[in-house]
Amino acid sequence: MSEIPPQFTPLELHDWQQSLEEAARHNIFCHCRECEREWIASNPEACVCGSKRVESIAYWQFPDG
Ligand SMILES: [Zn+2]
Repeated sequence: MSEIPPQFTPLELHDWQQSLEEAARHNIFCHCRECEREWIASNPEACVCGSKRVESIAYWQFPDG
């Protein structure tokens, strides 16, 4: 459960939820299978080495341990 600050107006609450979703979108872990580079992005993207063999994993999909 997320804690909702009690002073929020409905509009602020809406903005807050949007910012959470925004943050979630920027939590994609990318790993290049060609050069082993690892980085964080908002969308799955090609590596700077030019390879598109990039593995992308959303943070919430990481298994425990
Ligand atoms: Zn690469």
